[in-house]
Amino acid sequence: MKNNTSLNRLTDALNCLPGVGPKSALRLTYFLLQRDREGAKNLATSITEALEELGHCKLCNNFSEEPICSICSSSKRENNILCIVEMPTDLLMLEQTHSFKGLYFILMGRLSPLDGIGPKDIHLSELVKRVQDSEINEIILATNFTVEGNATAQYIKDLLKDTKIKISRIARGLPMGGEIEYVDSGTLAQAVVERKII
Ligand SMILES: [Zn+2]
Repeated sequence: MKNNTSLNRLTDALNCLPGVGPKSALRLTYFLLQRDREGAKNLATSITEALEELGHCKLCNNFSEEPICSICSSSKRENNILCIVEMPTDLLMLEQTHSFKGLYFILMGRLSPLDGIGPKDIHLSELVKRVQDSEINEIILATNFTVEGNATAQYIKDLLKDTKIKISRIARGLPMGGEIEYVDSGTLAQAVVERKII
C-alpha cells in the first residue's frame, strides 16, 4: 500500500489531469518540488482562486466570474441566434473567426452513454429553458463531428423539434488552402454532399 505522504498526495492529484499517467504525474511532482517551487506555489494559488471565483454564467453556462458573462450581457451581440458548442475552447475558436455575432450555449461535454454522460450532464434542461425564455429564433449546432458530437446534435434537434426555431448544423468541408489530393475521403465525401451553388 502507498504511504499517504504529501509527495504521494501531490502525485495522485496530478494524476487526475487528462493525459497524465502515474509516471508523468511523478515526473511533474519532482519538477515542481525540485526545479520550480515558485511556479508550484503560483499553480496552487491560481487553482484555489479559480475554484473560488469562477462559476457558470446563468445564460450560456460558460465559466464566468459574474452571474451573467460578458458575451451574454453585451448589447453588441445578436440576441436571436444561439450557437451550441461542447466546450469553452470551441467558443474561443469561433470567437477568433469573427464570423459569429450571436450568443452561445456551452454544453460542457457531449452525450456519451458509454461513459455514462446523459442529457442531464450536458445541461439540456437549462438549454431548453434558455431558448424558451429568449428571443432566439435560430440555433446553430456546432458540436464536434465525432460520433458523440453528431449524436448530441441530433438529440438537441429532436428536443427542439416542436419549437419554431430554425436549426442548422455547421458545415463540414475542405480546409482553407486544402488540396483535394491530401484530404481524407470522409471529409471529401462530405464536401461533395454539402456542395453549394455558386
Ligand atoms: Zn453567458
